Amino acid sequence: MSETLSNLAREERRFEPPADLAANANVKEEAYERAASDNEAFWAEAAERLDWGQKWDQVLDWSNPPFAKWFVGGTINAAVNCVDRHVEAGRGDKVALHWVGEPADDARDITYSDLKDEVCRAANALTDLGVRKGDRVAIYMPMIPEVVVAMLACARLGAPHTVVFGGFSADALASRVIDCEAKVIVTADGGYRRGAPSALKPAVDEAVSKVAADGGDHVVEKVLVVRRTGQDLGDGWDADRDVWWHDVVDAASSEHEPEMHDSEHPLYVMYTSGTTGKPKGILHTTGGYLTGTSYTHWAVFDLKPGTDVFWCTADVGWVTGHSYMVYGPLANGATQVMYEGTPDSPHKGRWWEIIAKYGVTIFYTAPTAIRTFMKWGDNFPADHDLSSIRLLGSVGESINPEAYVWYRKHIGAEKAPIVDTWWQTETGQMMISPLPGVTAGKPGSAMKALPGISVDVVNDEAQPVGNGNGGYLVIRQPWPAMLRTLWGDDQRFIDTYWSRWEGLYFAGDGAKLDDDGDIWLLGRVDDVMNVSGHRLSTTEIESALVSHPKVAEAAVVGAADEMTGQAVCAFVILRDEFTQDGGTGSTEGIVEELRKHVQKEIGAIAKPRQIMIVPELPKTRSGKIMRRLLKDVAEHREVGDVTTLADSTVMDMIKTKEDSSATEE
Ligand code: ATP
Ligand code: MG
Repeated sequence: MSETLSNLAREERRFEPPADLAANANVKEEAYERAASDNEAFWAEAAERLDWGQKWDQVLDWSNPPFAKWFVGGTINAAVNCVDRHVEAGRGDKVALHWVGEPADDARDITYSDLKDEVCRAANALTDLGVRKGDRVAIYMPMIPEVVVAMLACARLGAPHTVVFGGFSADALASRVIDCEAKVIVTADGGYRRGAPSALKPAVDEAVSKVAADGGDHVVEKVLVVRRTGQDLGDGWDADRDVWWHDVVDAASSEHEPEMHDSEHPLYVMYTSGTTGKPKGILHTTGGYLTGTSYTHWAVFDLKPGTDVFWCTADVGWVTGHSYMVYGPLANGATQVMYEGTPDSPHKGRWWEIIAKYGVTIFYTAPTAIRTFMKWGDNFPADHDLSSIRLLGSVGESINPEAYVWYRKHIGAEKAPIVDTWWQTETGQMMISPLPGVTAGKPGSAMKALPGISVDVVNDEAQPVGNGNGGYLVIRQPWPAMLRTLWGDDQRFIDTYWSRWEGLYFAGDGAKLDDDGDIWLLGRVDDVMNVSGHRLSTTEIESALVSHPKVAEAAVVGAADEMTGQAVCAFVILRDEFTQDGGTGSTEGIVEELRKHVQKEIGAIAKPRQIMIVPELPKTRSGKIMRRLLKDVAEHREVGDVTTLADSTVMDMIKTKEDSSATEE
């Protein structure tokens, strides 16, 4: 796909695994070979790490592609694997969650025994509210321990949950509730955001009304409400429908006999982030999903459950929160940090303070956060003792080489390996990533497929492109945590992922293999630009911009251009030390400097026609840049659907800037 002379895939820096980590790593190099020689045996062994009711008869049934069945005939309960079995093994006193609330001093340590009791109580309470195996339950909550409890209680009952990010609107909640016909909503009166309580329950009331109006026969029967902020709900309480968590869960028995569910029983429906359009309802099932997430969490983070303290900063409203805060880590018996608030509240060092306080050893976050910290400056992490960190992870977008190097230096003390993990809501589990005890990391590359996973980069004719070339990222073989379908829409599942080429899963991302065969993710194929016949990737040009010392973040789009077909338009956020007034002052000099910089790094063809210095970029609630909105601006169109945008004022700020700037050649 990309024919640029980019420096990106020519990265020469290599970071070897620290010797002690390599020597004691959970997974060694031989795993690749073992998985390649017998893929099913490899995943069966990973599944053996879990507790099953009935063992499976068949590892994989792929007789009706693309509909996979894993661990056919096996029965399992995800909640039992995440809590009961650790208690039964005598580890009940181990902390499962160091929960940190946003208001300072608001913190709770929850042991595995505590968690088991609470999950059992919630399972009993949900049963009393009418939830039966197979019923869907929507969860719309802040980052409080009860959200984990609610998910596991649903899993215990076999009632698939659909977690809707607490920052979403009533409309977004209603459309998801309607799509999967959730019978019960679990929520809270509110949550804390930047020091102030922010209400959730009124949005639920509004969503319930919308469901009644637009949901056909479907109605929400019960709303279970955690009291978190104690806000006045006024007359927003329906005595027939609404129940307080502390009334029904606290009063319920902590004894609950779990049923073992079929391995293919639906575990949850999760809607994608909506970066490229309307979110899709991804269905994950139980046995394969738990196998894929627990194995990769253990392998990629080299988890030592006895000593590690793991922190994944993702909100539970995204798949990363599901796979690497709830199911993977808890199935592995990990001790984790869970934080309710934002990184800048009450100050910009809050995350580092939390790492120091709990001795976090493994830290997993997104490039968008890392670039924000780069923007704020090095002094915030430097003020805290981060010496406990031994491993760092990244997910969500490509990590620009410059951000990788900053992360390694300022958070990882130039020794912690970084695992850049590529995966999707659809894949359920990590697919491409270094193994920390095996792989010498290259800044900006996700390196290669994990053991047991077969990815490839192909051209339009589905032929492998070979080293040194770019193309489409595809997956060749089924994997345990793969999505089983789109909720209620098998045809759309086939059309979206399996129709471009026979027998290949098409991820929608572009990628390039470097001369060593390592993988570089190049962004969405829909975002690829065509400038005078040259195909350019967003990621490459963005990384070139971020490599300039004054730049913190960049987003690049191709805008229609009479001369060249498309022209490169860049939106850039400067580091704080280079902006006096939030980036709104005169920027002519720097724009020229940056254009030259891109030319030098990549080539004249990639030199942006236009660069706008902006204070913010439009991002989804999960922190991904929404390039399609920037493309609307660059092409002077009405801005499209913004419902999954984190901050709707951002587009107004950018449009105002656009109107007042004319930096085109
Ligand atoms: P939608 O499909 O609704 O547009 P989305 O694709 O943003 O939403 P997710 O499933 O949360 O929803 O994101 C998966 C995508 O994120 C991947 O397809 C890829 O584009 C990007 N991504 C995730 N991790 C990485 C990574 N390590 N490197 C590069 N890209 C990544
Ligand atoms: Mg996607």
